[in-house]
Amino acid sequence: MIDVPVLIVGGGPVGLTASIYLSHFGIESLVVERHPGTAILPKARALNARTMEMYRQLGLEAAIRAVSMPARFGGMILWAESLAGREIKRLAPGRGSAGNLALSVAGNCGCAQDIFEPVLRERAEAAGPGRLSFGTTMTDLQIEAQGVHATIRDASGTSEQVHARYVIAADGAQSGIREQLGITRQGESDVYDSVNIHLRADLTPWISDRPAGLYLIEQSDLRGTFLTINGTDRWGFLVTSLSHYGYTPEQFNPAFCTEIVRRAVGSNDVQVEVLGVSAWSASAMVAQRYRSGPVFLAGDAAHEMPPTGGFGLNTGVQDAQNLAWKLAAVLRGEAGEALLDTYDPERRPVGEATTHSSLLNALSMGRTSRQTQAVLPRGEFLNEIGLIFGAHYQSAAVLPDGQPERSPEDQVQQYVPSAAPGCRAPHVRLSREGQPLSTIDLVGRDFVLFTTPRGAAWADAAARLSDPGITCVVIGAEVQNPDADWLGIYGIDDDGAVLVRPDAHVGWRSRSMAAQPAATLAAALNAILCREDARP
Ligand SMILES: Cc1cc2nc3c(=O)[nH]c(=O)nc-3n(C[C@H](O)[C@H](O)[C@H](O)COP(=O)(O)OP(=O)(O)OC[C@H]3O[C@@H](n4cnc5c(N)ncnc54)[C@H](O)[C@@H]3O)c2cc1C
Repeated sequence: MIDVPVLIVGGGPVGLTASIYLSHFGIESLVVERHPGTAILPKARALNARTMEMYRQLGLEAAIRAVSMPARFGGMILWAESLAGREIKRLAPGRGSAGNLALSVAGNCGCAQDIFEPVLRERAEAAGPGRLSFGTTMTDLQIEAQGVHATIRDASGTSEQVHARYVIAADGAQSGIREQLGITRQGESDVYDSVNIHLRADLTPWISDRPAGLYLIEQSDLRGTFLTINGTDRWGFLVTSLSHYGYTPEQFNPAFCTEIVRRAVGSNDVQVEVLGVSAWSASAMVAQRYRSGPVFLAGDAAHEMPPTGGFGLNTGVQDAQNLAWKLAAVLRGEAGEALLDTYDPERRPVGEATTHSSLLNALSMGRTSRQTQAVLPRGEFLNEIGLIFGAHYQSAAVLPDGQPERSPEDQVQQYVPSAAPGCRAPHVRLSREGQPLSTIDLVGRDFVLFTTPRGAAWADAAARLSDPGITCVVIGAEVQNPDADWLGIYGIDDDGAVLVRPDAHVGWRSRSMAAQPAATLAAALNAILCREDARP
C-alpha cells in the first residue's frame, strides 16, 4: 500500500505542474499517467505571460524558453489562401503589444506541448524522485472518511493500492473521475471537429520573410492553420470544421494528410513527413463544481475550451498553482480545511470566463458546426490581456479592504494593475544592489509582506509570525523602486502594507498604519488561512 498525501491522476501539463508546485511547497505527491510518456503531439503552444510568471517563480522560465519557438514568430498571425497564395490579412496580437508586455517581467512564450511537457517532467522527477508513474492507470477510486483509496495498475498489469488524503483529478477533458463523482458540466459540446496533423516539412521558402505564430489557411473547401513549432521544418497543421467540408477523421491517413498539407501550402512539390495525427472535437464546457470531498478537478477535467485564444493549458496550470499552496497549507497544519473550499469560488469563474471567451473567438471565426462565412476573428482574439492578468478572486481567503476599485470596463481586453485583495500582485520594476528585479521575483513561495521604511511596525509584526512565516520586503530600504510608482500601483500610503499569498495574489492590504499592526496582521493571516483556532 502506497500512502501519500496527494494523488495526482494525469501526467499532462496540469498534473505535472501540480506535482512541481506541491514539491515546491514541501508536500509529497504521486502522479499516475496511463501513457508511457509525455504528449506526443504539439497541441498547445501559447504560454501566456501570467503562466510564464509562475514558471519564472519556479525557476523554470529559462529552461522553457531554451526549447521554445524563436521569439520573432510571436509578433504576428497571418491569413492566406495558401502559403504560396494570396495573403488575406496580418495581425499583430494585442497581448504582445509594447504596452501589454510592460505589464510583466515575464513575456509570452510559444512552446509546443510535446516539447514543454518533458521540461515539466524532468523538474517534477528531480523534485519528487520515484513519485511519477508513467504507464500507470488509476482503475478504481473509493472515497473514504479520511481521504481516498485508489487502485493503480502499471503496464505489466500489476495492481497496487494507494491511500491519499487528497486527489487532484488532472485526468483531462474526458475525466473519468469527474464522471464517477457525477459532476455535470455546462456549456456547448462539440462546437467543431478537427484533425491535428503533426508534420515535418521545410516551409521556410514561404514563411521566412513573414514569421508568424499562426498561418491560417482559408480556402473554399479547406480551413486549416499551420502552428509554428520551430519555424523551419516542424509544424502542426490543424484542419478545422471537418464535417462542414464533408471530411471524416478516418480519411486522414498519411497520404491524405500529405495531400491536404500540400494544398494548404499551395505546392505539390513540398516534401511532407506525417509524424502523427489526432482527431478531436472542440467543446466549451465547465464543471459545475471543482471539488467533491477530497477530490479536486483541475485543468481540462474542470474546463474544456476551444483552443481559439490559447487558454486551456494556461487556465489549467494556474488551477494547479491555486490548489497546491492551499493543499500544502492544510497538510502542514497551517490552515483550516475550509481553505480548500476557496479553490472553487476562486478558479471556477476564471474557467468560465476563459471558456466563454474562447468559444466567442471560435464563433466569430465561423469555426463551428454552424459554419458561417466569417473568417477574421473578433477584436478580442489574442488581445485578452484582462483575462490573462485580471483574475480578481473573491473567497474566504481574500479580505476585501473597502477601497474603491479601478475596474476596467472591458474585463477581457483591459487590465488595470491593482493590488486590491484578490488580484494578482502587479509587476513593478525594482532593483537590489543595482540589479533589476520585479515584484514578481519576490513572490510565489511564502507569504510576502510589502511595506515601506515608514511601515517599520508592519515589518516588526511580520517578524513575530512564524506559523507560517512571512517574508517582509521593505521597498525603499533593501530594495529600491527606481520609478517611484509602487505605492500608487499597490494603492497604499507610505506607511501601508500589502500581504501577498503564496500564489502571488494579494490576500490583504492596509492603506496605512494600523493602531495595532501585530494583531491586525495576525488576524489577516488567520482569516486568509481559514483557521478555526485564531493564532497569535
Ligand atoms: C490543437 C490544440 C491546440 C491547443 N492550443 C492551446 C494553446 O495554445 N494554449 C493553451 O493554453 N491550451 C491549448 N490547448 C489546450 C491544451 O492542450 C489542454 O488544455 C491541456 O493539454 C490540458 O492539460 P491537462 O493536463 O488538464 O489534460 P491532458 O493534457 O488531457 O492530460 C490528462 C492526462 O490524464 C491522463 N489520464 C486520464 N485518465 C487517467 C487515469 N485513469 N489514470 C492515469 N492517467 C489518466 C491522460 O492519459 C492524459 O495524459 C490546445 C489543444 C489542442 C487540441
